[in-house]
Amino acid sequence: TLSGKTAVITGSNSGIGLGVARELARAGANVVLNSFTDREEDHALATEIAKEHGVDAKYVAADMSKGEDCRRLIKDAGRCDILVNNAGIQHVAPVQDFPTEKWDAIIAINMSSAFHTTAAAVSAMRASGYGRIINIASAHGLTASPYKSAYVAAKHGIVGLTKTIGLETAQDPITCNAICPGYVLTPLIEAQIPDTMKEYDMSREDVIKNVMLERQPSKEFATVEQLGGTAVFLCSDAAAQITGTTISVDGGWTAL
Ligand code: NAD
Repeated sequence: TLSGKTAVITGSNSGIGLGVARELARAGANVVLNSFTDREEDHALATEIAKEHGVDAKYVAADMSKGEDCRRLIKDAGRCDILVNNAGIQHVAPVQDFPTEKWDAIIAINMSSAFHTTAAAVSAMRASGYGRIINIASAHGLTASPYKSAYVAAKHGIVGLTKTIGLETAQDPITCNAICPGYVLTPLIEAQIPDTMKEYDMSREDVIKNVMLERQPSKEFATVEQLGGTAVFLCSDAAAQITGTTISVDGGWTAL
């Protein structure tokens, strides 16, 4: 079990981050939730998880688009044995129309935040004798789709960062890996359905079936619980020699 370990999960008041936090807590880890919103319901999520799983849980507000906030999150967490870099946003547009501020935000939140949190967390992991860095990349860290230039660039970037940190920590009791989900029906995916409908001139049902799950041979969404379970596995002893690599949870997408 992960009891006595503390997990910091960026962007964890929703979707995959929250699912991963719940599964790590179920496995006994104390959890630190994060988003930039700092609402009452964000803090309430931590209270709920603490109660349900008998672990310590707290919420720390920090904006993952800002380097100093990323580093402060690790400091305010108090301890970080397991770091899950999950915060991410999406924007869908052809490259000639892609807004520069969206490009910058996606590169900052989806990629650079992991550099800052990792830099802030790795020394204490070395000193404590246990560390797990788990980057939530994407099937789009290994393949591309049109109209997602910033997202695909950031996700390929985080796969490269994962390999590099895997090498830098190879002789330490630390592993660094990326989980590459295919489509998971979270608010992030919900939000891109309207834009994708416009790009492809399709109905909602057709976007789900013919664009999203078209790429996913299983024809099923992956679930946040399955991603949480993969993270728990990466934290285990069985996974101690798995480092610097990617694990796809994508229903066969990247086998195509
Ligand atoms: P989501 O929108 O449900 O969750 C995104 C999380 O990031 C939220 O908790 C949000 O608060 C947080 N966030 C956004 N901007 C932030 C900021 N500036 N500072 C701090 N937190 C911020 O989306 P999701 O689908 O759960 O996505 C989570 C991760 O999984 C992302 O990195 C995404 O790219 C990746 N992913 C998702 C899918 C999918 O199909 N849903 C597939 C592959 C990869």
